[in-house]
Amino acid sequence: MGVAFYKNFVIKGEHREFPVVYRQGIPSCNYVAKHNTEVLIMTFRISPLWWPALALVSPFVTLFLIIRNKRYRKNRKLAQQVNHKRIEQATALDLPELDYLELTVLVEEKKEAGFIGDAGVSYLFRTNLGSLLFDMGFGSKRPALSHNVEKLGLDLDDVDALAISHLHPDHMGGMWATLKKQVALPTTSESSQGKRPCYLPDKASSGSFLCELVKNPRLLSGGIGTTGPLARSLFFLGYTEEQTLIANVKGKGLVVFTGCGHPTVKVIMKMVSQISKEPVYAFGGGLHFPITAGRGDRAGIQLQRLIGTGKPPWRLVTDEDMNRTIDLLNQIRPEKVYLSGHDSCDHALQLMQEGLHAETKVLKAGATYRF
Ligand SMILES: [Zn+2]
Ligand SMILES: [Zn+2]
Repeated sequence: MGVAFYKNFVIKGEHREFPVVYRQGIPSCNYVAKHNTEVLIMTFRISPLWWPALALVSPFVTLFLIIRNKRYRKNRKLAQQVNHKRIEQATALDLPELDYLELTVLVEEKKEAGFIGDAGVSYLFRTNLGSLLFDMGFGSKRPALSHNVEKLGLDLDDVDALAISHLHPDHMGGMWATLKKQVALPTTSESSQGKRPCYLPDKASSGSFLCELVKNPRLLSGGIGTTGPLARSLFFLGYTEEQTLIANVKGKGLVVFTGCGHPTVKVIMKMVSQISKEPVYAFGGGLHFPITAGRGDRAGIQLQRLIGTGKPPWRLVTDEDMNRTIDLLNQIRPEKVYLSGHDSCDHALQLMQEGLHAETKVLKAGATYRF
């Protein structure tokens, strides 16, 4: 590790200069202030080691970006129209009043001691009416799901049904699963007992689950409902459909859980308010705010900061974006918020914990939360 060059930052109106150092081959700039309590980290979304190669192929890259941008803008318009129509046409959903709702986190970035953390999502919801597995992280492609399920003493064969929030690798079982649009099941859930339903927001297949394409808000399993698919235009990943879970817990109110939260809190909550007039008791899941860093970076590329943000790659997700979402969540006034670290950086998690009026926790693999 050595000092390569210096970078200027404006901190509280003051110009300051900090050394850029290399960490695992990725240039980054750290500033540790008072007693190590404040840390400012700036990293490049693509390591400068890639820049000569990018310069070489820049005419092709430019052409590719122009074509993508055209499609991205077209999809953005389409997603807005489709969401508007879906929300307008949605009617109240007869969500059963649940005696309880229990969430056991199987895969998350943050973890309890002895569990494996990963930049994916798998949540097991159990209620007095049954159970629903929401997403499966990277499935059998990485050790987190199998390890954590085993450590919790669970058997995924006991789960009544599976729901996939959206068809991204960190939710449906890895990159191969996304490319093939095939839900990749971890070996522990290759059930020998008949086919159970797998509720999907977009077309995909599965060998051992009975795939059901969700088109509208409806009940799934265990008395838990779905907003139905809501769309978002993503620059590289294209037109993306994502469903969010919604449940009604007796004496408390609605519990809402996202996967990555791509459709945005604003759109999701508009749909939720059409589905039920109950107050929102808890909101949880991914919100996709990789502001200062991404999770699961590969070869000096911070993929999460480049893709999945809903912006073109030359525009950053900022504190202002985060603050708008915080304001929105505060207007909804949930009593509890459960943050996912799988697609938001520590800086964003901290901003949310500081700015939200609700009791706010960061979800951890291995932990169980009862509503
Ligand atoms: Zn995600
Ligand atoms: Zn995603």
